[in-house]
Amino acid sequence: MYNPKSLLADEFIDHQEILDTLAYADANKDNKELIESLLEKARPRWINGQLNCTGLTHREASVLLACEDPALNEKMFKLAEEIKKAFYGNRIVLFAPLYLSNYCINGCVYCPYHSINKNIPRKKLNQEEVKRQVIALQDMGHKRLALEAGEDPFHNPIEYILECIKTIYSIKHKNGAIRRVNVNIAATTVENYRKLKEAGIGTYILFQETYHKESYLKLHPFGPKHDYNYHTEAMDRAMEGGIDDVGLGVLFGLELYRYEFAGLLMHAEHLEAVHGVGPHTISVPRIKKADDIDPSVFDNGISDDIFAKLIALIRISVPYTGMIISTRESQEVRARALHLGISQISGASRTSVGGYDEPERPHDTEQFDVSDQRTLDEVIAWLMDMGFIPSFCTACYRAGRTGDRFMSLCKTGQIQNCCHPNALMTLKEFLVDYASEQTRKKGDAMIAREIPTIPNEKVRSALVKYLERIEGGERDFRF
Ligand code: SF4
Ligand code: SF4
Repeated sequence: MYNPKSLLADEFIDHQEILDTLAYADANKDNKELIESLLEKARPRWINGQLNCTGLTHREASVLLACEDPALNEKMFKLAEEIKKAFYGNRIVLFAPLYLSNYCINGCVYCPYHSINKNIPRKKLNQEEVKRQVIALQDMGHKRLALEAGEDPFHNPIEYILECIKTIYSIKHKNGAIRRVNVNIAATTVENYRKLKEAGIGTYILFQETYHKESYLKLHPFGPKHDYNYHTEAMDRAMEGGIDDVGLGVLFGLELYRYEFAGLLMHAEHLEAVHGVGPHTISVPRIKKADDIDPSVFDNGISDDIFAKLIALIRISVPYTGMIISTRESQEVRARALHLGISQISGASRTSVGGYDEPERPHDTEQFDVSDQRTLDEVIAWLMDMGFIPSFCTACYRAGRTGDRFMSLCKTGQIQNCCHPNALMTLKEFLVDYASEQTRKKGDAMIAREIPTIPNEKVRSALVKYLERIEGGERDFRF
């Protein structure tokens, strides 16, 4: 029985509710009047200086996804861009993944780290190696990491992850610093989530992979991850353990995308209903080729057009959430996605265990093929060429603006008063410390253009002073 407030996975991701949703969507996919009214409902409005944008329910959004009318679909893309601009302006936050270990006892059939794969060398970074990776990442200009590790209580116990986090935060190399560590590790206990919280993590990210239970059980034939309910209820345990910000995601291409989309929105609605805080981020990975993995085996792959529509509709339905796309996707796909809703991208990623301190991209321990192989400097210049401000901001988590405190500022659009100047200051840090001459010129011109657009006089003049101090060698200012 469907109940978004339940703590039982089978009730908040109720299979029958998803089937009924898809049937409702099919019955209404040509209902132009309904679709127009949903687009109107989802439109962002500024009322008394506050942003008002309610999003859509999983049923409503599923109707839009089923719609095949090109003119209406075009309206959806336009609305997604409008919402993206209202919440995020032209800023894009940058991060890098850091793979700590590919030891794993699970059997996920779509991932080369599954324990039966004997081709792949197994590797785990020791603290000295973590340090070298972090220095290499700092030397590129990164400030925000997403830690990744397989599930293996012997090789990668929680103590190992905690030790790595401590090492990462402790490294101050030249002007570099990792200021926010997000963590993407297997579903775990409330007690372990509490330890991660105490270690100072930013967002806890866990991809659901698929919300379709029957498929889930087949795709995860053995190992602790086989337990669908334990995995699906992980975010509730994380929040019980004190983690304020959680990140959702499905691996598109494993189950039928319309089913996944409805499940994903139901999960977001569940977090809102129970904890009063929806997902901090939603990621949109698509299955990719890797050692021992052929994506064509999964016959639910989605085209670039459907992928773009999913991104647009997640943005429309959950307008406040940060949306993440990785270097799994090509430059072209990422460029389109940035307009439709993506607010965070990885840059210059290496998806092998370590590898950032090696001149050539290592392939032997890669989790997936990287499509976008440009350097961080190239990605930054590319973003600015498209009119986006690259941001390395990590201010909220460090200023204690997390969970419901963050969400109330985010949902009313107030957070922009911080995001915009913080983006410009962290961009300035990058330009002074790490950028090529050409990128620096572009960036300085962009900052000069952006300063006059800051509406608050006090913020504007403080920003100008901070920018001068950054030029003079000081670091880490924030609003
Ligand atoms: S997806 Fe994660 S849990 Fe599954 S095999 Fe890969 S690393 Fe292990
Ligand atoms: S101010 Fe907060 S919401 Fe805005 S970019 Fe920085 S960390 Fe993110």
